[in-house]
Amino acid sequence: MKIAVLKETADGERRVAATPETAKKFIALGASVAVEAGAGASASISNEDYLAAGATVAPRHEVLTGAEAVLAVQGPEPADLNGIAPGALVVAALDPFRNRERIDGYAAKGVEALAMEFMPRITRAQSMDILSSQANLAGYKAVLDAAAEYGRAFPMMMTAAGTVAAAKLFVMGVGVAGLQAIATGRRLGAQVSATDVRSATKEQIMSLGAKPIFVENVAGIEGEGAGGYATEMSDEYKAAQAELVSSHIAKQDIVITTALIPGRPAPRLISDAQLQTMRPGSVIVDLAVEQGGNVEGSAPGEVVVRHGVKIVGHRNVASRLAADASALFSRNLYNFLSAFWDAETKRPVLPDDDEIVQGVRLTRGGQVVNERLLSA
Ligand code: NAD
Repeated sequence: MKIAVLKETADGERRVAATPETAKKFIALGASVAVEAGAGASASISNEDYLAAGATVAPRHEVLTGAEAVLAVQGPEPADLNGIAPGALVVAALDPFRNRERIDGYAAKGVEALAMEFMPRITRAQSMDILSSQANLAGYKAVLDAAAEYGRAFPMMMTAAGTVAAAKLFVMGVGVAGLQAIATGRRLGAQVSATDVRSATKEQIMSLGAKPIFVENVAGIEGEGAGGYATEMSDEYKAAQAELVSSHIAKQDIVITTALIPGRPAPRLISDAQLQTMRPGSVIVDLAVEQGGNVEGSAPGEVVVRHGVKIVGHRNVASRLAADASALFSRNLYNFLSAFWDAETKRPVLPDDDEIVQGVRLTRGGQVVNERLLSA
């Protein structure tokens, strides 16, 4: 099986979908790996590194010719896939709900598109989960981005010239990114508090040494929530949450928002009026900015100043740590394909009745076949 690894074309995308390490592992399984020249450059991986791992390096059209699997970080344009083998696998983060036309394009092209962000949240699939691996790094980087924009220090410092107070950091949305943001904020010496709608996160917040701030009078989501995901909350809950946030946020220096609801716009958690109560010089990082934003006034790709508060809206935050993000993303793809590897034919065989396959498979035999996408 020939596996093609593409150089990303999306604006600001610095990651790559295979590293020399995973290329070598695929080759050990009996595949050949062809990497587009320069694919790893923005993640600090040279063409020579891939060659040393046993891969070939060539221009895009050569890499794609006869490829039976295409690995990418973001979905390539269907029109861009000329020359690939019929029924080839396209394995990437395909953002299916927002890129439906492109998914239809994959079907028309006759390729089997596999959306890695549709990986089910089951124990067996944990090592294949790109949402987790990338969110983890994004949560870490969000805190560093906040620290870089903040004109004060994070830890309490007692100096001969007097004491510097510790920064107060509030994390809204305690999934994978939020947990890492809490841990990172704590390591930098901030006083950390956090909130979520899922009650299971309360204990997780406390175990990281942060203070849980929860709506008490209206029930949130019991336990983990379905598949670890939140749903849209009732108006009653939203009102109670807004009140709680209003009373807490005025005392915060740094806020990191990470709240997402799958297949829906991000919930609005901070209004312009709430922003006004914050001290000038405070910093908010909106990790949900590309899904519509948790913060009123946040803008994708920009640092906006409103009422003296900086709202940081970097796009594709994981890509800002391109080398590590690529290493983890690449391993997720390898762990997925190798789990279904057939030693005899030296290629993955994806059974129709497997939960993972049913989750990630979007197109096959010229049709869109994914339940989640079809019912959206
Ligand atoms: P996510 O990115 O979908 O959402 C981020 C967080 O925002 C979630 O915790 C969610 O509850 C929260 N949120 C949503 N609406 C909110 C609102 N209105 N107010 C406050 N918070 C709100 O979630 P995620 O980071 O992908 O993961 C969520 C959970 O899934 C975690 O507990 C994680 O441990 C679990 N998980 C399990 C597996 C697995 O078992 N394979 C893999 C990944 C994640």
